[in-house]
Order: sequence, then structure tokens, then C-alpha cells
Amino acid sequence: MSFDYDLFVIGGGSGGVRAARVAAGDTGARVALAEEDRYGGTCVIRGCVPKKLMVFASEYPDLMEDAQAYGWDVKPGGFDWSAFQGRLNGELDRLEGVYRKLLANSGVETFDMRATVEDAHTVRLANGDTKTAKHILIAVGGRPVWPDLPGAELGITSNEIFHLENLPKSILILGGGYIACEFACILHGLGVEVTQYYRGAQILRGFDDEARGLIATEMQQRGIEICTGTNILEMSRDGDGVRVKATNGEERVFDQVMFATGRNPNTDGLGLAELGVELGRKGEIVVDEYSQTKVPSIYAVGDVTDRVNLTPVAIREGMAFVDTVFKGNPTKVDHDLIPSAVFTQPEMGTVGLSEEAAAEQEPIEVYATSFRPMQTSFIDRPNRVLMKLVVSQATRKVLGCHIVAPGAGEMIQLAGIAVKMGATKEDFDRTVAVHPTMSEEIVTLKTPVRTA
Ligand code: NDP
Repeated sequence: MSFDYDLFVIGGGSGGVRAARVAAGDTGARVALAEEDRYGGTCVIRGCVPKKLMVFASEYPDLMEDAQAYGWDVKPGGFDWSAFQGRLNGELDRLEGVYRKLLANSGVETFDMRATVEDAHTVRLANGDTKTAKHILIAVGGRPVWPDLPGAELGITSNEIFHLENLPKSILILGGGYIACEFACILHGLGVEVTQYYRGAQILRGFDDEARGLIATEMQQRGIEICTGTNILEMSRDGDGVRVKATNGEERVFDQVMFATGRNPNTDGLGLAELGVELGRKGEIVVDEYSQTKVPSIYAVGDVTDRVNLTPVAIREGMAFVDTVFKGNPTKVDHDLIPSAVFTQPEMGTVGLSEEAAAEQEPIEVYATSFRPMQTSFIDRPNRVLMKLVVSQATRKVLGCHIVAPGAGEMIQLAGIAVKMGATKEDFDRTVAVHPTMSEEIVTLKTPVRTA
């Protein structure tokens, strides 16, 4: 049977674009890709990239204060949101152009419209056309979840935050995960009064307890109001603001309410379940280690599979799919020991197991130090950082490394190599410190603070 294409990719985000262009560019496969929104997906258009640029923007008030304390004659002025937004939009346009060009240069045919799956080898485009392909790759990502509560339509999500005409004076952020905590810090840095409601006992559930404890303390010290054990009961319009009734008995008005209550896979209406593709409880596509679904010609990568929802992981899954299907080299993606960062202020960089998860697995030693770093203790800032290693008593291997510090995202990329290689505590010890740095503390941790 002959097909229009060897591969049809649905979704032009990190995973889909990488798979499409490598399949076409490296193997000469005939590839098409459909994207209903902007090329680049969540990461480039409404996630990692604009978020990180907002992190940079939000760090300047502290830097200016520090500069003054270091003797510089600087006068902090106001923040011009629309000037920043203009520049940000220009950058996103540029990046989207890069993505389009990469696809075109690899010979991938693109369709700027929604596509759904008709059968195991057929895709239906929004203009009514159908296209056949030997393989179909679903890489449609995820979308923010809106909580089910009265008045929820008055809130926004991280999708909308980049497009606000004006920054609000006050905002309530609901949730305690990556997105909630990162935007709490960003918006606070940009001068917005931030309140964060989290239903659990401590923000950043799943991360190392000591690390998330320090981040919560630092965020509160900066002036972010974190209310734990608190959820929204209902919301209603109040003038230009939103009146929020909370489970803690409070009733307050905020200029804006942002939900950061998780993300769900974008599988609604794609036609997958009807075909026999297995979907999980959140609508995620169930795949095997090769990203293959229950329908052999259909594969899926990235957030739509809800494995590890990070851009570099989606890219690896896309590459492994191409190796497996187009290069005759069956390749599983290694989801173990993935370093990652949370871009709060201070940042958290983490790889491996939290102390709590490691202690459940085997006997461990914990090495940790928390201190005021030189650059800011010099000017009497109270901020602390944390360097922590969780070590197996039996093998001496470092099972987890957790860093809370400015630049922790940069540090953990490098520490991640050692941990991934199976470095022991003694390997860390025999590495000479780089002095004077914050990260040198990670190789000078002498005695365990506790065992478990
Ligand atoms: P998370 O799953 O990390 O956090 C969702 C938060 O919302 C949790 O605190 C959860 O509480 C809370 N929540 C869920 N449902 C409700 C509800 N009905 N009412 C109140 N609270 C609720 O999702 P995010 O949206 O923050 O991020 C999505 C994913 O995006 C992350 O898992 C991550 O993979 C990725 N990401 C990565 C980043 C990075 O690497 N720096 C940055 C941003 C996103 P509870 O803990 O009780 O379940």
C-alpha cells in the first residue's frame, strides 16, 4: 500500500518538530506536520522561554538594590510592562520563524491547521482534506487545567499571563507546583502583590522537603504571602477585581486570579480512543518504552503521554522515535535521573531522589549545608542557600543532589552528569573545590547531618 507520507506528525512543539525534521533531514523520509496554533509549542510560545525571560526581568529590582549597597549610584525606576512585552513578542516571533525554517529546510511539509486521526494511517485536516501516512506521531502536548469552581471563568492561567495588557496590582495564584511558584516569584519581582493559595501543607510537593521548605521561607521573606491548607471556594466579580471566598474563611478581592493547577494532555477530540489507542485517566496516551501506542502505526511523544513533562525529555523521545522507526535502531528513552530546575527565587536545581524517597528505598546518609552566600551576606541580605547530597549507605552512590541557590539551574546541569555517571560521595570529596564559589560546598560536605 502506498501512503502520501512516511510520517505525519500532529503538533509543532519541541517533540514533534524535532522528530519531523530529523526523520526528514537524516533519513530522507517524506514527512508532514500539522500545527493548529503557533510553531514552537508550549515551551517556546507560552512556557519555558517567555517564562525565563520574565524571570530575568523580575530579578532587576533586587539587583538594583544590591548595586546600591555595593556603592553604585543607581536609582531604580518603574517597570514598563508594555516595553518588555513588545520585546518579548518580537523574540517569540523570531523563534517561531526559526522553527518554521528548520522544518522547511529539512523538507517537512507543514499544514497550519488542526489535524485529527481518522484511522491507523489517515489524518483529517481541518480543511476537510485527508492524508495518509505509514506512521503517525502524536505530539500535541498539554493545556492548563481550570479548576471546577463557581466563577472560575473570572480567572486566567499561565497561557494568558503573557498577554495581559497591564500588570495587576495584586494577584492570587492557586496551586503549589512549578508554575504557581515560578509565577509567584516573577510577579512579585515585577512589583505585583502576590498571594498564593495551596491546598496541601507545603508547596512543591514531591521535591525534597528541606529544599522546598527553604524555598517557601525565602519566598515569604521576599514578601509573597503563601497560605497553605487553603483553596478557593468561589469567585465573583467585584468592580474591576475578583472577590474570592476561601476555605480558610477569608473573603478578599484581588485584581487578578491565576490558576496553576496542573496540565492535562490535549487528546480531546483527536479521535484516538475510537481507534483503540489507550488513554489514561487524564486523557494521556499510553505508550510503551518505544513511545508506541496500542495501534502499531501510531506513536506519541512529549506531554501528551504525561511521562516526564519537560521539553528536553520530549525532544529525546522524538529522537528515540526516529531512531526506532526510521533508523532501524530500537531506542528506549532513559527517564531515570533527569536533572531539572524550578525557576523560583532562589532557584532549585535537583537530580535524583529526595531524602524522603531515598530513605524509603534504602539506608541513607544525608549531607547538607545551608548558608548565606558571600555576594549577598556582604550587603546584609538574610537570604540562605542549600547544598544537599543524599547518599546510599550501601553503595556510597549519590542518590540525590538538591541545590537551592541563585543559579541552581546552571549548577545542577553539571552535578547531574556526575550523579548520572553513578558518582559516589567519595568521588565528590576528591574533587577540588572551586574557590570562592557557592557550589564548592557540594565537594566539602564532611560529615552526615543525619542517617535514615
Ligand atoms: P503541577 O502538577 O506541578 O502542580 C499543580 C498544583 O496545583 C499542585 O500544587 C496541586 O496540588 C494543585 N492543584 C491541582 N488541582 C487543584 C485543585 N482542583 N484545586 C487546588 N489546587 C489544585 O502542575 P503545574 O501546572 O505547576 O506544572 C505542570 C507541569 O509543567 C509540571 O509538572 C512540569 O512537568 C512542567 N513544568 C516544568 C517547569 C520547569 O521545569 N521549571 C516549569 C513549569 C512547568 P497537589 O500538590 O495537592 O496535587
